[in-house]
Amino acid sequence: MSLEGKTAVITGSNSGIGLGIARELAKVGANVVLNSFTDRDEDHALAEEISKDTAVSAKYIKADMSKGEECRALVEKAGVCDILVNNAGIQNVDPIEKFPVEKWDAIIAINLNSAFHTTAAALPMMRDAGWGRVINIASAHGLTASPYKSAYVAAKHGVIGMTKVVALETAEEPITANAICPGYVLTPLVEAQIPDTMKEYGMDRETVIREVMLARQPSKDFATVEQLGGTCAFLCSDSAAQITGTTISVDGGWTAL
Ligand code: NAD
Repeated sequence: MSLEGKTAVITGSNSGIGLGIARELAKVGANVVLNSFTDRDEDHALAEEISKDTAVSAKYIKADMSKGEECRALVEKAGVCDILVNNAGIQNVDPIEKFPVEKWDAIIAINLNSAFHTTAAALPMMRDAGWGRVINIASAHGLTASPYKSAYVAAKHGVIGMTKVVALETAEEPITANAICPGYVLTPLVEAQIPDTMKEYGMDRETVIREVMLARQPSKDFATVEQLGGTCAFLCSDSAAQITGTTISVDGGWTAL
């Protein structure tokens, strides 16, 4: 499969899953636009590294996904958007009565509203190009809930609902919209939580991973950013042309429980 000639815009892609997706899409020939809200040399260096490794065109565009106009500007600045991957996301864990209002607002803005704005900006480009893929990175928490994650669970369920609407609005066109629902993925963000959790529970690394982090993941193994990138590449392939308005879980069996 080749995505040569297609351009993918991946929000929140200077680390973790977004960066993994960008690398995998570049490997199969897509030009990629990386994004986050920072504008550091190392952000631009990531794009240069992908470009060097794969010979695709890669660039980094700063845009804050908590701001609607910047979400739309990201797509406009990209100039082309055949594949839109809405991946930017943040988390906060607190009981609902203590959940900070500003955290609620930021999670809904970054994890849900940004996908509305980028999709609205990207669909006309996909229609002009006669082909498009909208891929929303939701979560197992888009299909199930956990205590203390009210905003995250609400945003991820919302993103799946919006995915279905986009799929229906584009159903007769060569455009698809789907959501990927990862379980636990070993990103730098998750890796950084391991030492504190080891201290908190008095457990070694392996026990923390197996008994605490992967307690709800029957495979007892993390999903990888490469697997998520591969799932995105599959959704961009001709084999997936009739897959629209649905979710693909990459969660080691979490949602089968
Ligand atoms: P991460 O923290 O490594 O990546 C999040 C990305 O979003 C980063 O690139 C960050 O810079 C970016 N971002 C944050 N705020 C932003 C803003 N205001 N504007 C632009 N970019 C912003 O985390 P990750 O684990 O790679 O998560 C990526 C996505 O995958 C998120 O939507 C997350 O909810 C989802 N997810 C992660 C897991 C997991 O276990 N890691 C599981 C399920 C779903």
